[in-house]
Amino acid sequence: MSISIEELSHIYQPGTPSEKIALRNITLEIKTGACIGIAGQTGSGKSTLVQHLNGLLKPTSGRILVNGINVTTGNLSVLRKQVGIVFQCPEQQLFGETVCKDIAFGLSNLGLSGSEIEIRVREALRVVGLEDDLLHKSPFRLSGGQKRRVAIAGILVMRPQILVLDEPAAGLDPQGRRDILDFIGKLHKQSGMTILLVSHSLDDIVRLAERVVILKQGAVAMEGKTRDVLNDLEALENAGMSVPPITILMNRLKKEIPELNDCLLTVEEARNELKRVWKMKTGVNPSC
Ligand code: ADP
Repeated sequence: MSISIEELSHIYQPGTPSEKIALRNITLEIKTGACIGIAGQTGSGKSTLVQHLNGLLKPTSGRILVNGINVTTGNLSVLRKQVGIVFQCPEQQLFGETVCKDIAFGLSNLGLSGSEIEIRVREALRVVGLEDDLLHKSPFRLSGGQKRRVAIAGILVMRPQILVLDEPAAGLDPQGRRDILDFIGKLHKQSGMTILLVSHSLDDIVRLAERVVILKQGAVAMEGKTRDVLNDLEALENAGMSVPPITILMNRLKKEIPELNDCLLTVEEARNELKRVWKMKTGVNPSC
């Protein structure tokens, strides 16, 4: 079971003067349990692409199968139980009187008993790393990062098999960004869910996604293992992507120190690699 996207094109307002081709011939295969990054400049088609996965948008041409369900002809309520989409700044859509009511909202049509709803809400709250004592607070009294987690819990409570997060770190301060990305990494490891991480910034994606798709003007410009894609700085620049500064720095250092491994993606990887090469060259363990 997986996501199979075959020659997908999407045109907004076709046949009108405001016609806009948003996606062009996209073909992708996303395996169950993968964590995939979808990156590209603003307007490259990322949101249009992911809105096809739960049938919010229909292909103008091409075909998408999600766990075998054709998003054009299949049962949308079954599809939407399997694919949870967390849109940008989801906390803006919180409205419940309490955190509990907000998280439980999506469950109201599933015919579950009160106790089953409570079990699911507590489970979702725990998964996003929030304490039970928040359940009866107003969501509007929480911090920005906590509100975002509550909004994500409102999707996780439906127990989707596929989770799409559109710009999950947008608008958070640096610590909030790190926290939410760490949380997504843990969620992926612990749940085995298929996760699609959408971002205009590769910084957010590289430490979580094993593969990356780069969109440019609605088409796939690059696709492959994260490390391979990040290694091709020229192609990334052509696709309008800025490369994480640590990757650029380490690529420059490699010209001076050829023993360094290629394509280091995070500060932590770079630190460990520098320590390894230091020890190799001096025989001494670095003290930092
Ligand atoms: P991204 O998520 O990468 O920023 P989008 O998928 O939102 O890109 O947009 C892709 C293209 O489609 C852009 O040129 C955008 O202006 C256009 N677009 C998006 N939504 C609509 C819409 N509802 N009607 C017309 N054009 C749209």
